[in-house]
Amino acid sequence: MQVMCIREELCERCGACWAECPRGAIERREEGGQERYRVTPALCDLCRTEARGPRCRAACPVVGCLVEVRGPT
Ligand code: SF4
Ligand code: SF4
Repeated sequence: MQVMCIREELCERCGACWAECPRGAIERREEGGQERYRVTPALCDLCRTEARGPRCRAACPVVGCLVEVRGPT
């Protein structure tokens, strides 16, 4: 199963992915005085209908949004 993930170690907390997601699949929350972003897999469709692929990935200024494979393929 493919899921979109946000790589905490690279994320610069700019919010671009959050603003760009058409499905409200990226949650933004405050934790320990810092913004954190997380994808809710149940809401994310990996932007399958978008010609240019995942919008969050395209919007990210670093390589913070990454498709990962989890569980049985
Ligand atoms: S892949 Fe698309 S639907 Fe999924 S989190 Fe990114 S912008 Fe949202
Ligand atoms: S667009 Fe990239 S750097 Fe900005 S909040 Fe999202 S994952 Fe982090």
